Amino acid sequence: MADPRTAPVQRILILMSMTGGGHRASALALKAGFEHEYPGRFAIDIVDILTEHTFWPLNHSPQIYSLIATEAPWLWGVAYSTELTPTLTRSAVRLAGKLAQGHISAALDHYRPDLVISVHPLAQEITLHVLARRPARSPFVTVVTDLASVHPLWLTPRVDALYLASEEALAAARAAGVPPTRTHLLGLPIRPAFAEPPTLSRAALRSQLGMDPELPAVILMGGGDGVGPVQAIATAADKAFAAQRVKAQIVVICGRNEGLRSRLAARTWSNPAHILGFVENVPDWMHACDAIVTKAGPGTIAEACVCGLPILLSGFIPGQEEGNVTYVVGHGAGALEVNPEAIGRTLAHWFGKGSPERLRMAKRARALGRPHATADIVQSVMRLMDEWDK
Ligand code: UDP
Repeated sequence: MADPRTAPVQRILILMSMTGGGHRASALALKAGFEHEYPGRFAIDIVDILTEHTFWPLNHSPQIYSLIATEAPWLWGVAYSTELTPTLTRSAVRLAGKLAQGHISAALDHYRPDLVISVHPLAQEITLHVLARRPARSPFVTVVTDLASVHPLWLTPRVDALYLASEEALAAARAAGVPPTRTHLLGLPIRPAFAEPPTLSRAALRSQLGMDPELPAVILMGGGDGVGPVQAIATAADKAFAAQRVKAQIVVICGRNEGLRSRLAARTWSNPAHILGFVENVPDWMHACDAIVTKAGPGTIAEACVCGLPILLSGFIPGQEEGNVTYVVGHGAGALEVNPEAIGRTLAHWFGKGSPERLRMAKRARALGRPHATADIVQSVMRLMDEWDK
Protein backbone atom coordinates (compact mmCIF):
# COMPACT_ATOMS: atom_id res chain seq x y z
CA MET A 1 0.00 0.00 0.00
CA ALA A 2 1.24 3.49 -0.84
CA ASP A 3 2.64 5.42 2.10
CA PRO A 4 -0.13 7.89 3.07
CA ARG A 5 2.49 10.50 4.00
CA THR A 6 3.99 10.58 0.51
CA ALA A 7 1.06 9.48 -1.67
CA PRO A 8 -0.49 12.24 -3.80
CA VAL A 9 -3.86 13.68 -2.83
CA GLN A 10 -6.62 11.65 -4.41
CA ARG A 11 -10.17 12.77 -5.10
CA ILE A 12 -13.22 11.00 -3.70
CA LEU A 13 -16.70 11.85 -4.91
CA ILE A 14 -19.50 10.85 -2.54
CA LEU A 15 -22.91 10.77 -4.23
CA MET A 16 -25.94 11.32 -2.06
CA SER A 17 -29.27 13.10 -2.08
CA MET A 18 -31.15 14.82 0.70
CA THR A 19 -34.08 12.40 0.61
CA GLY A 20 -34.16 11.88 4.39
CA GLY A 21 -31.24 12.70 6.70
CA GLY A 22 -29.76 9.19 6.62
CA HIS A 23 -27.96 9.48 3.28
CA ARG A 24 -26.36 12.78 4.22
CA ALA A 25 -25.45 11.46 7.68
CA SER A 26 -23.74 8.40 6.13
CA ALA A 27 -21.93 10.57 3.56
CA LEU A 28 -20.64 12.86 6.31
CA ALA A 29 -19.60 9.86 8.41
CA LEU A 30 -17.59 8.39 5.50
CA LYS A 31 -15.92 11.73 4.76
CA ALA A 32 -15.00 12.06 8.44
CA GLY A 33 -13.82 8.44 8.45
CA PHE A 34 -11.42 8.94 5.51
CA GLU A 35 -10.11 12.19 6.98
CA HIS A 36 -9.65 10.55 10.37
CA GLU A 37 -7.85 7.44 9.04
CA TYR A 38 -5.83 9.19 6.30
CA PRO A 39 -5.44 12.87 7.16
CA GLY A 40 -4.46 14.98 4.14
CA ARG A 41 -4.57 12.06 1.71
CA PHE A 42 -7.96 12.74 0.10
CA ALA A 43 -9.94 15.67 -1.25
CA ILE A 44 -13.54 14.64 -0.67
CA ASP A 45 -16.61 16.17 -2.32
CA ILE A 46 -20.12 15.27 -1.16
CA VAL A 47 -22.51 16.02 -3.99
CA ASP A 48 -26.29 15.88 -4.15
CA ILE A 49 -26.11 14.60 -7.71
CA LEU A 50 -29.89 14.60 -8.20
CA THR A 51 -30.47 18.17 -7.08
CA GLU A 52 -27.32 19.69 -8.51
CA HIS A 53 -26.80 17.75 -11.76
CA THR A 54 -30.16 16.54 -13.07
CA PHE A 55 -33.36 18.21 -14.25
CA TRP A 56 -37.02 18.47 -13.23
CA PRO A 57 -38.55 16.46 -11.55
CA LEU A 58 -35.44 14.49 -10.45
CA ASN A 59 -33.78 17.63 -9.11
CA HIS A 60 -36.78 17.99 -6.76
CA SER A 61 -36.32 14.48 -5.27
CA PRO A 62 -35.72 15.78 -1.69
CA GLN A 63 -38.97 17.81 -1.72
CA ILE A 64 -40.91 14.93 -3.31
CA TYR A 65 -39.49 12.48 -0.74
CA SER A 66 -40.36 14.76 2.16
CA LEU A 67 -43.91 15.23 0.84
CA ILE A 68 -44.47 11.47 0.46
CA ALA A 69 -42.87 10.65 3.84
CA THR A 70 -45.12 13.10 5.70
CA GLU A 71 -48.34 13.17 3.63
CA ALA A 72 -48.58 9.77 1.94
CA PRO A 73 -46.17 7.22 3.47
CA TRP A 74 -48.45 4.42 2.17
CA LEU A 75 -47.21 5.31 -1.33
CA TRP A 76 -43.73 4.34 -0.19
CA GLY A 77 -45.16 1.02 0.99
CA VAL A 78 -46.62 0.41 -2.45
CA ALA A 79 -43.30 1.29 -4.08
CA TYR A 80 -41.58 -1.34 -1.92
CA SER A 81 -44.18 -4.08 -2.10
CA THR A 82 -44.96 -4.28 -5.83
CA GLU A 83 -42.98 -7.01 -7.53
CA LEU A 84 -42.77 -4.87 -10.63
CA THR A 85 -41.10 -2.05 -8.69
CA PRO A 86 -37.46 -2.99 -9.41
CA THR A 87 -38.16 -3.34 -13.15
CA LEU A 88 -40.25 -0.18 -13.32
CA THR A 89 -37.81 1.87 -11.27
CA ARG A 90 -34.78 0.60 -13.22
CA SER A 91 -36.45 1.47 -16.54
CA ALA A 92 -37.40 4.93 -15.26
CA VAL A 93 -33.92 5.51 -13.87
CA ARG A 94 -32.26 4.31 -17.09
CA LEU A 95 -34.39 6.78 -19.02
CA ALA A 96 -33.47 9.54 -16.56
CA GLY A 97 -29.79 8.48 -16.88
CA LYS A 98 -29.99 8.82 -20.66
CA LEU A 99 -31.58 12.26 -20.41
CA ALA A 100 -29.18 13.47 -17.70
CA GLN A 101 -26.09 11.92 -19.33
CA GLY A 102 -24.63 15.27 -20.42
CA HIS A 103 -25.08 16.87 -16.97
CA ILE A 104 -23.62 13.90 -15.07
CA SER A 105 -20.73 13.51 -17.50
CA ALA A 106 -19.93 17.20 -17.02
CA ALA A 107 -20.04 16.69 -13.24
CA LEU A 108 -17.63 13.74 -13.49
CA ASP A 109 -15.28 15.81 -15.68
CA HIS A 110 -15.44 18.57 -13.08
CA TYR A 111 -14.72 16.40 -10.02
CA ARG A 112 -12.36 13.91 -11.79
CA PRO A 113 -12.76 11.36 -8.97
CA ASP A 114 -10.24 8.56 -8.28
CA LEU A 115 -13.04 6.83 -6.40
CA VAL A 116 -16.82 7.20 -6.43
CA ILE A 117 -18.86 6.21 -3.37
CA SER A 118 -22.64 6.21 -3.63
CA VAL A 119 -24.85 6.31 -0.56
CA HIS A 120 -28.05 6.69 -2.60
CA PRO A 121 -29.70 4.13 -4.89
CA LEU A 122 -30.98 6.60 -7.52
CA ALA A 123 -27.68 8.49 -7.61
CA GLN A 124 -25.93 5.14 -7.99
CA GLU A 125 -28.06 3.89 -10.90
CA ILE A 126 -27.93 7.13 -12.88
CA THR A 127 -24.18 7.56 -12.45
CA LEU A 128 -23.41 3.90 -13.27
CA HIS A 129 -25.40 4.32 -16.48
CA VAL A 130 -23.24 7.28 -17.45
CA LEU A 131 -19.94 5.72 -16.30
CA ALA A 132 -20.58 2.64 -18.45
CA ARG A 133 -20.47 4.91 -21.50
CA ARG A 134 -17.18 6.59 -20.66
CA PRO A 135 -13.83 5.17 -21.86
CA ALA A 136 -12.14 4.70 -18.48
CA ARG A 137 -13.57 4.68 -15.03
CA SER A 138 -12.49 4.77 -11.41
CA PRO A 139 -13.64 2.25 -8.80
CA PHE A 140 -17.30 2.69 -7.86
CA VAL A 141 -18.56 1.41 -4.52
CA THR A 142 -21.95 1.61 -2.85
CA VAL A 143 -22.61 1.91 0.84
CA VAL A 144 -26.19 0.83 1.46
CA THR A 145 -27.84 3.12 4.01
CA ASP A 146 -30.90 0.91 4.49
CA LEU A 147 -30.36 -1.16 7.63
CA ALA A 148 -32.35 -4.33 7.07
CA SER A 149 -35.04 -3.93 4.37
CA VAL A 150 -32.96 -3.01 1.34
CA HIS A 151 -34.66 -1.59 -1.77
CA PRO A 152 -33.79 -3.83 -4.79
CA LEU A 153 -32.49 -0.80 -6.68
CA TRP A 154 -29.41 -0.80 -4.41
CA LEU A 155 -28.52 -4.39 -5.22
CA THR A 156 -26.61 -4.39 -8.47
CA PRO A 157 -23.62 -6.55 -9.40
CA ARG A 158 -22.24 -3.62 -11.44
CA VAL A 159 -20.58 -1.96 -8.45
CA ASP A 160 -17.04 -2.93 -7.44
CA ALA A 161 -18.03 -3.33 -3.80
CA LEU A 162 -21.33 -3.27 -1.96
CA TYR A 163 -21.22 -2.47 1.76
CA LEU A 164 -24.12 -3.75 3.87
CA ALA A 165 -25.23 -3.21 7.44
CA SER A 166 -26.91 -6.45 8.54
CA GLU A 167 -27.16 -10.19 7.86
CA GLU A 168 -30.64 -9.49 6.50
CA ALA A 169 -29.26 -6.97 3.96
CA LEU A 170 -26.42 -9.35 3.02
CA ALA A 171 -28.92 -12.15 2.34
CA ALA A 172 -30.95 -9.81 0.10
CA ALA A 173 -27.80 -8.86 -1.86
CA ARG A 174 -26.82 -12.50 -2.36
CA ALA A 175 -30.39 -13.35 -3.44
CA ALA A 176 -30.23 -10.50 -5.98
CA GLY A 177 -27.14 -12.08 -7.53
CA VAL A 178 -24.39 -9.78 -6.23
CA PRO A 179 -21.24 -11.98 -6.13
CA PRO A 180 -20.00 -12.78 -2.59
CA THR A 181 -16.59 -11.31 -3.48
CA ARG A 182 -18.25 -7.90 -3.84
CA THR A 183 -20.47 -7.95 -0.75
CA HIS A 184 -19.10 -6.77 2.59
CA LEU A 185 -21.04 -6.89 5.84
CA LEU A 186 -19.38 -4.16 7.93
CA GLY A 187 -22.27 -2.14 9.39
CA LEU A 188 -23.84 1.26 8.74
CA PRO A 189 -21.32 4.12 8.61
CA ILE A 190 -21.81 6.35 11.62
CA ARG A 191 -19.73 9.32 12.72
CA PRO A 192 -16.24 8.40 14.05
CA ALA A 193 -17.25 10.08 17.35
CA PHE A 194 -19.47 7.02 18.01
CA ALA A 195 -16.45 4.68 17.76
CA GLU A 196 -14.88 6.05 20.91
CA PRO A 197 -16.33 5.00 24.26
CA PRO A 198 -17.24 8.11 26.32
CA THR A 199 -14.36 9.49 28.37
CA LEU A 200 -16.71 10.62 31.16
CA SER A 201 -18.98 8.57 33.38
CA ARG A 202 -22.68 8.84 32.57
CA ALA A 203 -23.24 11.07 35.64
CA ALA A 204 -20.35 13.39 34.67
CA LEU A 205 -21.58 13.55 31.09
CA ARG A 206 -25.08 14.46 32.31
CA SER A 207 -23.67 17.25 34.48
CA GLN A 208 -21.68 18.59 31.53
CA LEU A 209 -24.85 18.65 29.41
CA GLY A 210 -26.80 20.48 32.10
CA MET A 211 -28.83 17.41 33.09
CA ASP A 212 -29.49 16.03 36.57
CA PRO A 213 -26.50 13.70 37.07
CA GLU A 214 -28.43 11.14 39.10
CA LEU A 215 -31.76 10.76 37.28
CA PRO A 216 -32.12 8.16 34.51
CA ALA A 217 -33.04 9.69 31.16
CA VAL A 218 -34.95 8.91 27.99
CA ILE A 219 -34.03 10.58 24.69
CA LEU A 220 -36.73 11.24 22.07
CA MET A 221 -35.76 11.76 18.41
CA GLY A 222 -37.53 12.06 15.03
CA GLY A 223 -34.61 11.85 12.57
CA GLY A 224 -32.72 14.87 11.28
CA ASP A 225 -35.95 16.75 10.55
CA GLY A 226 -37.75 16.04 13.84
CA VAL A 227 -40.66 14.30 12.11
CA GLY A 228 -43.50 12.18 13.51
CA PRO A 229 -45.59 12.68 16.65
CA VAL A 230 -42.62 13.72 18.81
CA GLN A 231 -44.66 16.33 20.68
CA ALA A 232 -47.45 13.88 21.59
CA ILE A 233 -44.87 11.29 22.69
CA ALA A 234 -42.93 13.75 24.85
CA THR A 235 -46.16 14.93 26.50
CA ALA A 236 -47.37 11.35 27.08
CA ALA A 237 -43.99 10.34 28.58
CA ASP A 238 -44.06 13.34 30.93
CA LYS A 239 -47.63 12.49 32.07
CA ALA A 240 -46.89 8.76 32.48
CA PHE A 241 -43.74 9.40 34.56
CA ALA A 242 -45.72 11.77 36.81
CA ALA A 243 -48.72 9.40 37.12
CA GLN A 244 -46.53 6.37 37.94
CA ARG A 245 -44.23 8.42 40.19
CA VAL A 246 -41.23 7.43 38.07
CA LYS A 247 -38.18 9.58 38.68
CA ALA A 248 -36.65 10.22 35.25
CA GLN A 249 -35.73 13.07 32.92
CA ILE A 250 -36.64 13.64 29.30
CA VAL A 251 -34.39 14.81 26.46
CA VAL A 252 -36.09 15.81 23.19
CA ILE A 253 -33.96 16.38 20.09
CA CYS A 254 -36.16 18.25 17.61
CA GLY A 255 -33.59 18.32 14.78
CA ARG A 256 -34.38 20.97 12.17
CA ASN A 257 -38.05 21.19 13.26
CA GLU A 258 -37.96 24.67 14.85
CA GLY A 259 -41.76 24.74 15.33
CA LEU A 260 -41.58 21.56 17.43
CA ARG A 261 -38.67 22.92 19.47
CA SER A 262 -40.42 26.18 20.30
CA ARG A 263 -43.74 24.48 21.17
CA LEU A 264 -42.03 22.03 23.53
CA ALA A 265 -39.80 24.73 25.04
CA ALA A 266 -42.93 26.77 25.92
CA ARG A 267 -44.58 23.83 27.73
CA THR A 268 -44.56 23.34 31.51
CA TRP A 269 -43.08 19.93 32.37
CA SER A 270 -43.70 17.72 35.40
CA ASN A 271 -40.26 16.11 35.02
CA PRO A 272 -36.88 17.68 34.20
CA ALA A 273 -36.92 18.19 30.42
CA HIS A 274 -34.18 19.25 27.98
CA ILE A 275 -35.53 20.55 24.68
CA LEU A 276 -32.97 20.89 21.90
CA GLY A 277 -32.95 21.87 18.22
CA PHE A 278 -30.45 20.35 15.78
CA VAL A 279 -27.41 19.17 17.74
CA GLU A 280 -24.02 18.07 16.42
CA ASN A 281 -23.13 16.10 19.57
CA VAL A 282 -25.73 13.31 19.33
CA PRO A 283 -23.14 10.78 20.70
CA ASP A 284 -22.89 12.76 23.97
CA TRP A 285 -26.67 12.96 24.40
CA MET A 286 -27.14 9.27 23.61
CA HIS A 287 -24.35 8.20 25.99
CA ALA A 288 -25.98 10.36 28.72
CA CYS A 289 -29.33 8.55 28.38
CA ASP A 290 -30.72 5.11 29.25
CA ALA A 291 -33.29 4.49 26.48
CA ILE A 292 -34.40 6.05 23.21
CA VAL A 293 -37.74 6.61 21.49
CA THR A 294 -37.32 7.13 17.74
CA LYS A 295 -38.93 6.48 14.38
CA ALA A 296 -37.30 3.53 12.64
CA GLY A 297 -34.59 5.56 10.85
CA PRO A 298 -31.48 3.45 10.10
CA GLY A 299 -28.93 6.04 11.26
CA THR A 300 -30.49 6.64 14.65
CA ILE A 301 -31.01 2.90 15.23
CA ALA A 302 -27.38 2.07 14.38
CA GLU A 303 -26.14 4.88 16.66
CA ALA A 304 -28.46 3.87 19.52
CA CYS A 305 -27.18 0.28 19.31
CA VAL A 306 -23.56 1.45 19.57
CA CYS A 307 -24.53 3.46 22.68
CA GLY A 308 -26.33 0.43 24.19
CA LEU A 309 -29.74 2.15 24.28
CA PRO A 310 -32.91 0.04 24.36
CA ILE A 311 -34.97 1.28 21.41
CA LEU A 312 -38.69 2.04 21.58
CA LEU A 313 -39.75 2.49 17.95
CA SER A 314 -42.61 4.95 17.54
CA GLY A 315 -43.29 4.47 13.83
CA PHE A 316 -41.81 3.63 10.48
CA ILE A 317 -42.12 4.55 6.81
CA PRO A 318 -43.95 1.60 5.17
CA GLY A 319 -41.62 -0.53 3.05
CA GLN A 320 -38.47 1.53 3.52
CA GLU A 321 -38.23 1.27 7.32
CA GLU A 322 -40.38 -1.81 7.98
CA GLY A 323 -37.44 -4.21 8.04
CA ASN A 324 -35.76 -2.02 10.65
CA VAL A 325 -38.64 -2.77 13.03
CA THR A 326 -38.23 -6.53 12.54
CA TYR A 327 -34.48 -6.05 13.00
CA VAL A 328 -34.77 -4.22 16.33
CA VAL A 329 -37.64 -6.24 17.79
CA GLY A 330 -36.47 -9.59 16.38
CA HIS A 331 -33.00 -9.13 17.89
CA GLY A 332 -34.52 -8.23 21.28
CA ALA A 333 -33.03 -4.71 21.25
CA GLY A 334 -36.35 -2.91 21.61
CA ALA A 335 -40.07 -2.77 20.93
CA LEU A 336 -42.59 -1.08 18.62
CA GLU A 337 -45.37 1.08 20.03
CA VAL A 338 -47.06 3.63 17.79
CA ASN A 339 -49.63 5.08 20.19
CA PRO A 340 -48.13 7.97 22.22
CA GLU A 341 -50.03 7.03 25.43
CA ALA A 342 -48.84 3.41 25.09
CA ILE A 343 -45.29 4.72 24.56
CA GLY A 344 -45.64 6.72 27.80
CA ARG A 345 -46.86 3.63 29.67
CA THR A 346 -44.04 1.47 28.26
CA LEU A 347 -41.43 4.06 29.28
CA ALA A 348 -42.93 4.31 32.79
CA HIS A 349 -42.64 0.51 32.98
CA TRP A 350 -39.05 0.45 31.62
CA PHE A 351 -37.96 3.17 34.05
CA GLY A 352 -40.04 1.87 36.99
CA LYS A 353 -38.57 -0.03 39.93
CA GLY A 354 -37.61 -3.63 39.29
CA SER A 355 -38.00 -3.78 35.49
CA PRO A 356 -35.17 -5.96 34.16
CA GLU A 357 -36.45 -5.55 30.57
CA ARG A 358 -34.67 -2.27 29.87
CA LEU A 359 -31.28 -3.66 30.90
CA ARG A 360 -31.79 -6.86 28.91
CA MET A 361 -32.63 -4.87 25.78
CA ALA A 362 -29.68 -2.53 26.38
CA LYS A 363 -27.36 -5.55 26.30
CA ARG A 364 -28.90 -6.84 23.07
CA ALA A 365 -28.71 -3.41 21.45
CA ARG A 366 -25.03 -3.08 22.31
CA ALA A 367 -24.36 -6.52 20.84
CA LEU A 368 -25.89 -5.36 17.53
CA GLY A 369 -23.84 -2.15 17.44
CA ARG A 370 -20.86 -1.82 15.09
CA PRO A 371 -18.88 1.12 16.46
CA HIS A 372 -16.05 0.62 13.95
CA ALA A 373 -18.21 0.28 10.83
CA THR A 374 -16.92 3.51 9.26
CA ALA A 375 -13.22 2.71 9.82
CA ASP A 376 -13.76 -0.86 8.57
CA ILE A 377 -15.42 0.41 5.37
CA VAL A 378 -12.60 2.93 4.83
CA GLN A 379 -9.97 0.17 5.17
CA SER A 380 -11.85 -2.12 2.80
CA VAL A 381 -12.16 0.66 0.19
CA MET A 382 -8.44 1.39 0.53
CA ARG A 383 -7.63 -2.25 -0.24
CA LEU A 384 -9.86 -2.06 -3.31
CA MET A 385 -8.12 1.13 -4.54
CA ASP A 386 -4.77 -0.48 -3.99
CA GLU A 387 -5.77 -3.49 -6.10
CA TRP A 388 -7.19 -1.17 -8.78
CA ASP A 389 -3.89 0.66 -9.13
CA LYS A 390 -1.88 -2.56 -9.65
N1 UDP B 1 -29.19 13.94 13.83
C1 UDP B 1 -28.24 14.88 14.24
N2 UDP B 1 -28.67 15.95 14.98
C2 UDP B 1 -29.97 16.12 15.30
C3 UDP B 1 -30.93 15.17 14.88
C4 UDP B 1 -30.50 14.07 14.15
O1 UDP B 1 -27.04 14.76 13.96
O2 UDP B 1 -30.27 17.11 15.96
C5 UDP B 1 -28.70 12.77 13.06
C6 UDP B 1 -28.89 11.45 13.77
O3 UDP B 1 -27.87 11.28 14.75
C7 UDP B 1 -28.81 10.47 12.58
C8 UDP B 1 -29.46 11.27 11.45
O4 UDP B 1 -29.49 12.63 11.87
O5 UDP B 1 -27.45 10.25 12.24
C9 UDP B 1 -30.89 10.79 11.16
O6 UDP B 1 -30.85 9.65 10.38
P1 UDP B 1 -32.01 8.56 10.41
O7 UDP B 1 -31.61 7.51 9.42
O8 UDP B 1 -32.28 8.06 11.77
O9 UDP B 1 -33.35 9.33 9.97
P2 UDP B 1 -33.70 10.24 8.70
O10 UDP B 1 -33.53 11.66 9.16
O11 UDP B 1 -32.76 9.84 7.59
O12 UDP B 1 -35.12 9.91 8.36
